[in-house]
Amino acid sequence: MSDTIFDKIIDKSIAADILYEDDLALAFADINPQAPVHFLVIPKKRIATINDISKDDRELVGHLYWVAAQLADQKGFASEGFRTVMNCNEFGGQSVYHIHLHVLAGKPLGWPPYSDELKESLE
Ligand code: AMP
Repeated sequence: MSDTIFDKIIDKSIAADILYEDDLALAFADINPQAPVHFLVIPKKRIATINDISKDDRELVGHLYWVAAQLADQKGFASEGFRTVMNCNEFGGQSVYHIHLHVLAGKPLGWPPYSDELKESLE
C-alpha cells in the first residue's frame, strides 16, 4: 500500500491544523471544510479502507470514535450533535486511501446522502 498525504501529516513533513494527537491517532482540520466544523480523525497505522480493517484493528477503530467524542465535548458541540462519516472506495466517495473519520458539526446537517434530487440527476 502506497503512502498518502496523511502519512506526511502524521510525520509532520506537511503542515496541518492538529487538534489532537496520541500514540494511536491524530485529529486535524479538513482543508476543504463541508460544515462550520469539519475535522478528520485518523489512525497513525496505515489502513487503506474500511475493507482492510482487521480483527486486531477493532480497538483502534473504536479509539477514533472516542477521540471524536472527546473533541466534540471539548469544543462544545457534543450535546448539539454532529455527524461522523467514514467513506469507503469509489461509491462511498473516498479520495484518500488511509481511513479517516470525518467529524462535521456546527449547523444542522442534511440527510440522506442519496436524495431524490441526486437519484434523478444520476438517472
Ligand atoms: P474522503 O473524500 O472521504 O477520502 O476525504 C478526504 C478528505 O481529506 C477531504 O475532505 C479533503 O478535504 C481532506 N484533505 C485532503 N488533503 C488534506 C490536507 N492536506 N489537510 C487536511 N485535509 C485534507
